[in-house]
Amino acid sequence: GSVIGILGGGQLGRMLSVAASRLGYKTHIYEPGANPPAADVAHAVTTAPYEDAAALRAFAGAVDVITYEFENIPTSALDLLESLKPIRPNRRALAASQDRLVEKAFLNDLGLATAPFAAVDDLEDLREALAEIGTPAILKTRRFGYDGKGQVLIESTDQAEAALAELNGAPAILEGFVDFFKEISVIGARGLDGSISCYDPGQNKHEGGILRTTTVPAAITDMQRTDAVLLAAKILTKLDYVGVMGVELFVTRDQLIVNEIAPRVHNTGHWTQAGCTVDQFEQHIRAITGWTLGDGARYADVEMTNLIGEDVERVPQLARESRNQIHLYGKAEVKPGRKMGHVNHVF
Ligand code: ATP
Ligand code: MG
Ligand code: MG
Repeated sequence: GSVIGILGGGQLGRMLSVAASRLGYKTHIYEPGANPPAADVAHAVTTAPYEDAAALRAFAGAVDVITYEFENIPTSALDLLESLKPIRPNRRALAASQDRLVEKAFLNDLGLATAPFAAVDDLEDLREALAEIGTPAILKTRRFGYDGKGQVLIESTDQAEAALAELNGAPAILEGFVDFFKEISVIGARGLDGSISCYDPGQNKHEGGILRTTTVPAAITDMQRTDAVLLAAKILTKLDYVGVMGVELFVTRDQLIVNEIAPRVHNTGHWTQAGCTVDQFEQHIRAITGWTLGDGARYADVEMTNLIGEDVERVPQLARESRNQIHLYGKAEVKPGRKMGHVNHVF
């Protein structure tokens, strides 16, 4: 049996470990923080910072292939690991998704539409960007943002200075506000042999920047569905990608606009656990270990709801209702905005 190394020990690493275990693999988690959710179900855990070269070397020595559950791994750690074991998805996928500016330029080069954007390093940049893009607009940190963190909505130009101050001098990007009808995402996978399998797009609802629900099927036309899948396939192929990727899209009156890409299993793909024979976690493990990709056909309508913070108190009630598949991440401490678990309701 081979060992799969996973960088990051959150709930995604936990669910990847369960899927790996089912296919006969062991997982080894590398996570700087204490008591990560993945530690309960992984076969080995290294608790060390990404700057610890000796720990990284030992980790690489103990595994056969390295993957990750979050995209903000320091470059120096990746350089070292890559010299020792294959990293899948590859570095190009990480480079294209770690920085919102690089990401949008990459997508535009591929011929895909994004929100209008401009790099913002100081107030002068921001004033110029606002003059060009207009309001409303969203100022976002280029790196490290998730769950809507590191973002400020700018409704009029006189808010520029305050918005910039909120980001504490971090390199930023200004994005034009996209007036979308709905948000959807494609969870796509590409195998070592270059074959591609995409799940049916899900429709996503966010509250306060955090994903609340994903529903399949999405209320989109056949043409939009086909366009979304082809667009995801184009990204996967261009990056010579191996593994599962999440592609977040805005649906507007006349086009699909790419919001962002995530080079990993994705919260909006959790519905596949209840809607498909092979879910996104198994699909990712299959891809990075060189298996044939599994059948991603959807055989049920599903609504996935995140259990955020105190929502977790609803679990006893949710467990009494039929057609609910409940997932809890084993996090001891409940915090506002913290993803504690999710429920897949099958229709
Ligand atoms: P994630 O947890 O998905 O990684 P994130 O912190 O990277 O989130 P984004 O995906 O950039 O944040 O934005 C979160 C949500 O805010 C989007 O799903 C969308 O609802 C809204 N949003 C972000 N950018 C724009 C935009 N340019 N126009 C309109 N709405 C936007
Ligand atoms: Mg993001
Ligand atoms: Mg997002």
